[in-house]
Amino acid sequence: MKIWMDRERSRAICPSCERKTEVVFQRREVTLSAPPVTAEDVLVAVCVECEGIAMIPHQSTPKLREAIQKPKETLNVRVPGHLEDVLYLLVDRVAHGWKNGKAPVLKYLLHEFGDNPEYARRVREHLDDDLAQGPADQDVSVRVPTYILVAVDQMAEMVGIANRSEVVRGVLASAKEDVLEERDPEFASSIQRAIAAVA
Ligand SMILES: [Zn+2]
Repeated sequence: MKIWMDRERSRAICPSCERKTEVVFQRREVTLSAPPVTAEDVLVAVCVECEGIAMIPHQSTPKLREAIQKPKETLNVRVPGHLEDVLYLLVDRVAHGWKNGKAPVLKYLLHEFGDNPEYARRVREHLDDDLAQGPADQDVSVRVPTYILVAVDQMAEMVGIANRSEVVRGVLASAKEDVLEERDPEFASSIQRAIAAVA
């Protein structure tokens, strides 16, 4: 694996010049659009002709990822009481009743929803379950990385779910089947592994 050093020179395809140009590795501020984050001092290959970023080397990925995962916001939704109970039962099942377990369990489900279109469509179908109905009278409030919420909003729009509250209803209704009724043992064990890693 090649590790580039600051001020080292090479050649790369520059997307602005649309051809191979000389590049020099420099640390720059990198701004991403979705999620909207800025990372300082990221090593990039700068095109010497247009001064644009021609490419971002592999070694800069962890630093960018850290910047993406850092900003968090509070997700506030209201769900029917019986779905809040489902969330507590999930914590019991996959996190041995850990008292801080609600946030990581919900975060895992939301991450999966934002990341996996097949799962997201299944969640959409579960919104028709009886279990997903009922007055939203319980507050659920968790800190979630912004990048997860950005992905959740995009996926919700793609599969036709109106808002984050509906997404939370859907992931809980489907987790009741997948995890509590053990319909999807693989899914259950991957939540368990993810929770064990943060507990
Ligand atoms: Zn260029």
